[in-house]
Amino acid sequence: MPVLYRDYRPKSFSEVINQEHIKTTLQKAVAAGTFAHAYLFTGTRGTGKTTVARILARAINCAKQKNGEPCNSCDNCKQFLNSTGLDLVEIDAASNTGVENIREITEHLKFSPTRAKYKVFIIDEVHMLSKGAFNALLKTLEEPPAHAVFILATTEVHKVPATIISRTQRFDFKKIDNTSLLEYLEEVSKKEKIKIDKESLELVVNSAEGSVRDALSILDKLSTFDKIDLAQAEALLGITNVIASQKFLDLLNSKDAAGALNFLSEIFNSGVDPIQFNKDFLEYLRKVLMISLGADMDFALDQSQIENLKRQAGEIKGQHLMYIIRLFLRANKDFAISPNVELPVEIAAAEACFTETVVASKPVASKALETSKETVKEVKKKPSVDKIVSEAEVFAAWPEVLLELKEQASTLFAVMKNVYLQSAENNHLILQCDFKFHKDALENAKNKDVLLKILNNHFETEFSLETILQKKERAEGIDTQAVAFEVFGPELS
Ligand SMILES: [Zn+2]
Repeated sequence: MPVLYRDYRPKSFSEVINQEHIKTTLQKAVAAGTFAHAYLFTGTRGTGKTTVARILARAINCAKQKNGEPCNSCDNCKQFLNSTGLDLVEIDAASNTGVENIREITEHLKFSPTRAKYKVFIIDEVHMLSKGAFNALLKTLEEPPAHAVFILATTEVHKVPATIISRTQRFDFKKIDNTSLLEYLEEVSKKEKIKIDKESLELVVNSAEGSVRDALSILDKLSTFDKIDLAQAEALLGITNVIASQKFLDLLNSKDAAGALNFLSEIFNSGVDPIQFNKDFLEYLRKVLMISLGADMDFALDQSQIENLKRQAGEIKGQHLMYIIRLFLRANKDFAISPNVELPVEIAAAEACFTETVVASKPVASKALETSKETVKEVKKKPSVDKIVSEAEVFAAWPEVLLELKEQASTLFAVMKNVYLQSAENNHLILQCDFKFHKDALENAKNKDVLLKILNNHFETEFSLETILQKKERAEGIDTQAVAFEVFGPELS
C-alpha cells in the first residue's frame, strides 16, 4: 500500500499539482453556487481526477467554504473525508458494471441527503459500465434531482457514449509535466527526509510518465533504502542502463547464444523486469540504427558509451540489425500471450544468435542502409534471376522497402503503414488490411505496379501481391505500422 500517495493526497484545490484551468473553473463555480450537476473528468491515470472529484464533493457541501475551497474541518467535510455517512457514494465501475448497480443509485437518489446539502456520486472508470447501465445512468442524468451531483471519471473517454458526455460538463486532465513532477518529488523527499539524489529522482519522474500516483509509489519503494543512488534506483525500477544493452548486443552479434541467455538469466534474477529490459534494449537498438544511418543526434550518453555505440553500429550489418529489431519488437508483443515473462526475450535472443541472415562480406560503413542494399544485391547476383527470396529475408528488409516506398510514393506509403505483412512465401506477399479502402488503394493497378517495382528492384527477382480484408486476427507476420514507428520514429512514420 503506497503510504506516500495516501499521505500526500491533496485535500484542497490549491494543493493539486497543475490542472490550473480545471481548479479555477471549479472553484469559481462553487463560490458562486453555479456548479453543474454532472461532471465528466477524463485523463490518464494519476492525473488527479478522483482527488479533484473528492475535493469538489466537499467544497459544495462545506459549511465554511471559502473561495470555492473546502474547510476540511466542518462536520460535512469530516464526514466526506472519513467516508462516513451516506451522502458521498463512490462506485468503481470496473467492478460494478451492471444495470443493477446504477439502479441502486437511482433508488438511493430518491432520498434527500442525510446531513450534507448534496448527495455526491463519484463513478470511477465510468467507461466500464454495461450498455444497460449507461442507459439507466442516462435517464438519471436527464432529470437529476436538485440534491444530486454526479462526477464521472474515466481514462478512456472514447468508450463513453456521446449521449452521456453531452449531459455533463467535461474537464480534460493533462498529464503532469516532468518539471512539475520533479519539483513536487523534491518537495516530498525533503519533507519525508528521504535521501535521494536528483539523478535518481529524474529517473523516477521518467518512469512515472506523468502520473503523480506512480511517482509517489516508486518513491515509496525507494525510500526503504537509507540513501538512494542511481544504481539502486535503476535496479529497483528494473531499468537497465545502456551498458547492459551494449553488453547484450555484443553477445548477440557474436552469436553467443549461451552467453546471451546466461546474461539474461543473471539480470532477471537480480530483479530487472523483462518487459522493461526489452523496451530499453529496443530504445538502444534504435540509437544504433540512427548512428548506422549516419544520423547526427545527441543521445545524452557519456563518452565511452558513445564510442561503444559507434563501434556496434559499425560492426553490425545493417540487415542483421533490422532483423534483431524485428525480433525484439515481436517479443514486445509476445509478453501478452506468454505464460512466462522471460520467455519472449529469451526466444528473441536465441533466434538472433541462431538465424543466419544475409551477411556482408565487407565492413559496413556508416550508411548501413546502402550497404545492406549492396549486400542483398551481392548475394542475389549469384543465383539465377527467378530466385526465391526467403520470408525471413523479406521481413528483415521490410523497413528498407518502406523507406524506398516513402521516397518514391508517399501517399502509398501512408496506406502501407496501415497494412500488415502477413506472409512472404515463394516471392508471394500477402498483405492484410483492416479496412476496405486500404485494400482498394493497394489493388489500384498503378499503386500495385509501384509497389511491385520497388520489391522486384530491391530483391532483383519477380514478386506477386495479394491483399486480403481481415480485421484483428494477426498471423505471424509484420506489423508495418509498428515497424515504421519503432524503426524510423514518429517523424518518418
Ligand atoms: Zn467544511
